[in-house]
Order: sequence, then structure tokens, then C-alpha cells
Amino acid sequence: MSLWSLLFPPRCPFCRRLLEKGETQPCLNCRKTLPWTGERQRVHGSFFGVCVSPLHYRDSARAALLRYKFGRKTAYAACFSRLMADCAEKRLVGGYDVVTWVPLSRRGLRKRGFCQSELLARGAAAQLGVPCAPMLRKPRHTPAQSGITDAAVRRANVSGAFSLREDAMPEGKRVLLVDDVVTTGATLSECSRLLLMGGAEKADCLTLCCAARMKE
Ligand SMILES: [Zn+2]
Repeated sequence: MSLWSLLFPPRCPFCRRLLEKGETQPCLNCRKTLPWTGERQRVHGSFFGVCVSPLHYRDSARAALLRYKFGRKTAYAACFSRLMADCAEKRLVGGYDVVTWVPLSRRGLRKRGFCQSELLARGAAAQLGVPCAPMLRKPRHTPAQSGITDAAVRRANVSGAFSLREDAMPEGKRVLLVDDVVTTGATLSECSRLLLMGGAEKADCLTLCCAARMKE
């Protein structure tokens, strides 16, 4: 056993109970009580086909995601990305050529210290057996979407904030785009629009949490 795992044994990201070494599932209790979205949950957007998410953005799921993002609990990514890949395997069909993620601006990355959606994308891609590559950049820093409730203002806030990387090569690819939370889908739509304009065959989305109202 490494010193690292003695010092920092894995914990359930949702309740912080100690887990067995190497365990990446939530603890048994959380598996029963987490706010799962259910198999029929879907969010549709203007440019992406569908977005699926294993958890609702509330209760212990919301608290864990906030600790991950703002408390730098990067170890949570192992459990989170597993839940996401499990969800993608069950609810998305057709397969993907590449997994990518919604990037942070340079300023955002400096402030947070890591890109939360990149870690989720890399973990999920590894489980899904699909290559993972950066395809987007965010040259313009924008106010956090979480502070904006109006859908039109959220769309305006992200319009022009992202661009396709010069080395992205989305032509003909089926892209799975990863972010941490979907609310109105404005960010995912804007990023998907860029991927489609670059020639991607399709873009679907996968997030850990869904803050949108259920549309079933
Ligand atoms: Zn737990």
C-alpha cells in the first residue's frame, strides 16, 4: 500500500465514508439514497442530440460536486466519471469516435487549479474505451453560468466565449461532449455548434448532474 493511500484512503465522495482500497463506486448507502435521474432522463439542446446525466443536481450530489470543484477534491473524479460512463453505456446508443470536454478559460483554470470537466471526460473515456482529446478552447472569460437564471441571458453569456482548437479535427466524428452540470444546455449547445461547424457528424453530451427540470 502506498503512503499516499495510507494518508488519503478513498472516501465516498457523497458522504465521505471510508471505502475499500481501489473502490470507485459510491458507498452502499449512497448507492441507495443518491438522487438518481432514472433511465428515461434526457435533456435536448439546439445543437447536441441528447444529454444524459446519472444524478440530479441536488442534495448530496450537489454538495459533492461543489466540494470537487471548489475544494479541489480531484480524487472524486474516479467515482464521478465511473457513474457517468455507466450512464452513457446504458442510455446512449451508436458509439463515439472521441470524447472531449467543455474547457475553462485560462483565468478560470488558474483560479480552480484543475479543469473539472477534463478529469471527468478522461475517466469516462477510459471506461468507454474511446479516445479523449481537447477540441475546444475558451479564450474569453465569462461570469459563472450558475449565477444567471434567465435562459436567454445564459445563452448570451456563452455566445462567442468558446472556439474550436486549431488541432481539433472534428471532421466526420461522432463526439461525446462532457461537462459537470447541465442546466439550460446553453454551454453545451454553443460548444456542440462549434463542433458541428467544424464538421463533426454529431455531438451528444454527458454530465454528472442535471439541474434542468425533468422533461419525460
Ligand atoms: Zn456514501
